Amino acid sequence: MKMRMRKCKPCGAYTMNDKCPNCSGDLNVVYPPKYSIEDRYGKYRRKLKEEANIIKNK
Ligand SMILES: [Zn+2]
Repeated sequence: MKMRMRKCKPCGAYTMNDKCPNCSGDLNVVYPPKYSIEDRYGKYRRKLKEEANIIKNK
């Protein structure tokens, strides 16, 4: 299974869909860094949380 993470340019949301679930904005494909799978997910989870907070605080 291919994991292709995408990040929305306008709102910064991560998704694996073709369109942003929040705003249907343009997506950048994010290539995961070469860490262990655990690290990778931890990083994304942290990022997701950070970005979610940023969006909330706007
Ligand atoms: Zn978006």
